[in-house]
Amino acid sequence: MGELPRQLEIFRDVSKQLGDTQVRNMGTACGSMAHADPAGDWGPAAVAVGARLIVESVDGRREVMARNFFKGGPFSTDLRENEILVGVEVPFSEGQGTAYTKLKRKTDDFATVGAAVSVRVSRGGSIESATLVLAGAGEVPVAVEINDVVKGRTPDEAADEIKKVAGQAGEYQEDLRGSVEYKREMAGVMALRSLRSAYSRARGGD
Ligand SMILES: Cc1cc2nc3c(=O)[nH]c(=O)nc-3n(C[C@H](O)[C@H](O)[C@H](O)COP(=O)(O)OP(=O)(O)OC[C@H]3O[C@@H](n4cnc5c(N)ncnc54)[C@H](O)[C@@H]3O)c2cc1C
Repeated sequence: MGELPRQLEIFRDVSKQLGDTQVRNMGTACGSMAHADPAGDWGPAAVAVGARLIVESVDGRREVMARNFFKGGPFSTDLRENEILVGVEVPFSEGQGTAYTKLKRKTDDFATVGAAVSVRVSRGGSIESATLVLAGAGEVPVAVEINDVVKGRTPDEAADEIKKVAGQAGEYQEDLRGSVEYKREMAGVMALRSLRSAYSRARGGD
């Protein structure tokens, strides 16, 4: 990946944690989002940062907000039959930090659960606003309302509530990746890790 603004480190997180080396070398972000696997990693990250997806066909060009792109169930999107995704535009600003954290069973696996976070932090170090989107928590990327929990606080101050709110969101099935209870617990852990990382980055850290 070339010059990535430090506010969009989330995309580096995704590309480091997705699949294995072969998949990372060959698969594309647009291909992944068009495929719309409910456990895919690019979609939640795109939704968390407020990305605009650029769609083209012989009929012309249009933009779709990532949060409106994944709809109608698993492997379903807003794309019409003759359209392809040709680009992704992402806004970013000072005081912003982003991160993606994913739990997977083994190297080339999809997310048992993943958490994409974008946060804005004041100069004084308190959170102004935050977005959390979960992977593997439903048929589409699951946006979780956390502003009330984090506003005016630090991740450590909001830790218990973040874990609780993230753990209560979404719909899970028990499968070879774990029980519903385990996945909910892990959603909370991943959400807090991403929040801490995004917060640190917003303040100039790693
Ligand atoms: C072993 C393995 C492990 C994987 N692990 C992960 C993982 O951990 N996380 C994760 O998120 N994904 C994972 N994937 C999925 C991977 O991310 C996607 O297969 C890949 O990104 C798809 O990109 P592609 O360009 O190869 O698309 P293709 O596989 O070529 O296409 C996928 C679908 O999207 C359509 N399509 C492709 N590009 C576009 C476009 N620009 N516009 C419209 N439609 C398009 C195709 O027609 C097809 O229907 C894994 C895949 C494998 C095989």
